[in-house]
Amino acid sequence: MRKALILFFLSIISCTAFSQSIVRTCQPFQVDSLQFKDLVWMFAQQDSLLDLKPYSQLTLILEDRQGKRLEKTFQSDSTFRMNESVDEYLAQRIMIDKPDLTAFWALELEDDISLFKSLKDSLLAKFKFKYYTMRYSSETRSLKQQLALQRRGKSKIALSMHNFSLAADVAIYRKKRYLKHGLIYEKMGTIAKDLGLFWGGDFVGFPDLGHIQAFKNSAELLRQHPNLAFEFEHFKANYEQVYTQKASVGREDLVQDTQDLLEAMNEFRLNQACLCEKAQPIPASAHAWIASYQLNPKPRIHVNLKDQWAYVQRGNTGYFFSLGLWQRQAKK
Ligand SMILES: [Zn+2]
Repeated sequence: MRKALILFFLSIISCTAFSQSIVRTCQPFQVDSLQFKDLVWMFAQQDSLLDLKPYSQLTLILEDRQGKRLEKTFQSDSTFRMNESVDEYLAQRIMIDKPDLTAFWALELEDDISLFKSLKDSLLAKFKFKYYTMRYSSETRSLKQQLALQRRGKSKIALSMHNFSLAADVAIYRKKRYLKHGLIYEKMGTIAKDLGLFWGGDFVGFPDLGHIQAFKNSAELLRQHPNLAFEFEHFKANYEQVYTQKASVGREDLVQDTQDLLEAMNEFRLNQACLCEKAQPIPASAHAWIASYQLNPKPRIHVNLKDQWAYVQRGNTGYFFSLGLWQRQAKK
């Protein structure tokens, strides 16, 4: 009885710890310096997260503590590929409609994609069982296709490693007859794992026998490529929902990868600048230009470090926010 009680309390403690580690709040804090890439992040985070409507341009305005004003405007560029500045890269990302994520992140992921390709070839070469053949049925997927799969319940998540060409689906046939499951998939999975790949049959919440991927989970992908957090950020609310649904019925064990991803996203954002508190009144230092912005509406973010506010405009309307830093949710 006592043991059960202890276990019960332990599980309460760990539940609380879990939910706190995945929640991140913007706390008012003095922000001393910012880079243009931080402005793009703040602009994107303030967006309604599932609305991927692209912008045709974006203007970033940064006034530093001494009152020096820097401005940059990005236009959407269909020929855009990799650029040396992260801010331009991220700005282009929010201006692209229905992106091909593999093409967009090609330079970032180049080495991983080519390693994955060669491991896939090795798996194919090593899969030698009498009467059985395997082939890859689905490899790269567009974001649009992935979101359609998710809507139909075929996939739990908004972003898959298929979107980055870091996953493939395997179809196994016995004498030309397609097999949906069977021990042979485990044999394939064992070869894949020996090669250093990760097998979908090991997924806890959503086992997928015919799936292999290059990373253990999305959290691992993010830890090695922190810029990709920008991609996952769009879907943070969706991942939180997947996690809390299971956690609320005590089944965190089924969504460990989701929890791991949310924690990785929080690690990455911890102590980064953010926008707190909606609908601030117009600060005195903005009176000079606010009318001209409203007359000439365009997507922009304007940050003033001296007075610690930011103005974000999308269409005709804009809002002022106070500056802060992302923090883990304070313990109650
Ligand atoms: Zn798959």
